[in-house]
Amino acid sequence: MNTETYSFKVGNLECMALSDGGLTYAPPMFPPPATILFNNAPVGALNRVLSEHDLQPEQWTEWTSPYTCLLVEAAGHLVLVDTGAGGLAPSTGRLIHNLKAAGIAPDDIDTVILTHAHPDHIGGNIDGEGKLTFPNARYVMWKEEWAFWTSEEAALKLDEHAKIMLPFAQRNLPPIRDRLELVDHETEILPGVRAVAAPGHTPGHMAVAISSGRQQLLCISDTVLHPVHLEQPEWYAVVDFAPEQVVSTRRRILNEAAIGKALVLAFHFPFPGLGHVIRKGTGWRWQPIETTA
Ligand SMILES: [Zn+2]
Repeated sequence: MNTETYSFKVGNLECMALSDGGLTYAPPMFPPPATILFNNAPVGALNRVLSEHDLQPEQWTEWTSPYTCLLVEAAGHLVLVDTGAGGLAPSTGRLIHNLKAAGIAPDDIDTVILTHAHPDHIGGNIDGEGKLTFPNARYVMWKEEWAFWTSEEAALKLDEHAKIMLPFAQRNLPPIRDRLELVDHETEILPGVRAVAAPGHTPGHMAVAISSGRQQLLCISDTVLHPVHLEQPEWYAVVDFAPEQVVSTRRRILNEAAIGKALVLAFHFPFPGLGHVIRKGTGWRWQPIETTA
């Protein structure tokens, strides 16, 4: 299988999962993976659940997370969901290469939806010279998200783990100001493309629902960061801004995805990040799609 682009259809809409590369999270730069991802998990339960996933907490010293963006052709528009991490690390910023390899020029993108303002989702807004990567696009974000990251209170409200992300927002958000459209309720961005409130991971984190006919794709971004979060939705990550809100958002979105049998795209899951959410006990489990060579 091509590990950087994956084309699929939702009803009659052409979609593509596009890798932006990814990053390995390990000490000393980051806390150990189990701390990053399951910050409040009780040790006994954590060990048990991780071993079911062939992971041993003490030996699990690094977490390599893919970054997967989404391209949708809807109602004559080319829509990109998230711009990846740009030049954050040598292993990131693959999005543009992969778009071009798929025959799409950055100029062709007319709508960019930013699910939230963490560096791995907005880092590709500008190039190395500070110019807009997608010069013809309008940018859509949730109103609270923009307000938070462009406010002075952000520095006060972010804890030490999250504070390092502020300079990325301060660099990548102002250049899109003139072409920005903010949404403050669940609404259709384009025919078949809908903004879904998913706050908690960040103040104005949003999901995006793509629908055509009876089929639906729920692009849930960072509602969950690891498949274990489906089974243990109350285990939040160290970078989750409002843990209680994260848990209730997860329960609502995962429930909707399971009941509606929606295809789901999770930004940090193994590429292409696509799968289904299946009810399991009081939680859910992740069923990745079958991909063929
Ligand atoms: Zn992320």
